[in-house]
Amino acid sequence: MDGDVRKSTLEMLTFAKRLGEPTAVFVGEAAQGEAAAATLGEYGAEKVLVASDPAYSEFLVAPQAELLANLIETRQPAGVLVPATADGREIAARAAVRTGSGIITDASDIAEGFVATQSVFAGSYTVAGRVTKGTPIVAVKPNSVSPEAAAGAGAVETVDFAPSDASKTARVVSVEEKPQSGRPQLNEAAIVVSGGRGTAGDFSQVEALADALGAAVGASRAAVDAGWYPHANQVGQTGKTVSPQLYVAAGISGAIQHRAGMQTSKNIVAINKDDEAPIFELADYGVVGDLFQVLPQATEAVNAR
Ligand code: FAD
Repeated sequence: MDGDVRKSTLEMLTFAKRLGEPTAVFVGEAAQGEAAAATLGEYGAEKVLVASDPAYSEFLVAPQAELLANLIETRQPAGVLVPATADGREIAARAAVRTGSGIITDASDIAEGFVATQSVFAGSYTVAGRVTKGTPIVAVKPNSVSPEAAAGAGAVETVDFAPSDASKTARVVSVEEKPQSGRPQLNEAAIVVSGGRGTAGDFSQVEALADALGAAVGASRAAVDAGWYPHANQVGQTGKTVSPQLYVAAGISGAIQHRAGMQTSKNIVAINKDDEAPIFELADYGVVGDLFQVLPQATEAVNAR
């Protein structure tokens, strides 16, 4: 909506390109759509549908869901991929209801035939599922794939669709910009450095490594419950689900509820002074040691590069 092309959109294109000829939908001003189309084309979009009705920014997600349902009905795509963000999930779910389609949420991979991989029951099982009714709609977790450049025509087509009054029932009253930490959003970040009870409330070394790596900061529930870090940063079953390229867990034991939110990360590094901490069963790399010694050394090494 702000005209920027998000990384998660490029990830959807990368998956879509593997399945067929992607069409991207851009919601925002027409001029911004033209600019965005160039980028979207570089990641495989053959067509970019630009929808510019003011209702998309004036109201909460219902008009966008109506737009998506209309595009599904009029264009009959083989399937629809949506980033599994808070808004993306809601738009996908509403569009699924409107079109009588099945939906799969929080997928971490998509294969031929829109077969989606999903981690369920707090990560105890990985299932492959396929929608059997209507147009497959799949909400895919951000960071499930690295965006890959691919040639696409990026041809702009204006969508002339006016959302109904019925969809305009929840208006955006104000938008408050959060104070910028300068760090990427937790569920979109390629790298996440998280701290747990082992930090004893001092997140300075976790933040220092995060900043050296350009990473987001995460926290275990123990750290959040203790009031050391905001709930918005909690990773896990009752927090956010992240799937970064690199997840660093410092002073986190690796309880199942924490794992549920990070175990699909591509590379997991654990720093823990207890060599029997369960997080080491999951970690690709483990450092047994005091995080207050290990993190500064890691930060120094990263900064020296
Ligand atoms: P602990 O389990 O106490 O582990 C701290 C670790 O730090 C230990 O392994 C210790 O060896 C290590 N350590 C201590 N000092 C140092 C040091 N100086 N250097 C290095 N290592 C050190 N948890 C979540 O995280 N996210 C959730 O969303 C979540 N949802 C939950 C939902 C439910 C319904 C329930 C019941 C629980 C949930 N939990 C969740 C809580 C979860 O069960 C654990 O209690 C929690 O994850 C533990 O956090 P922790 O690993 O930081 O703390």
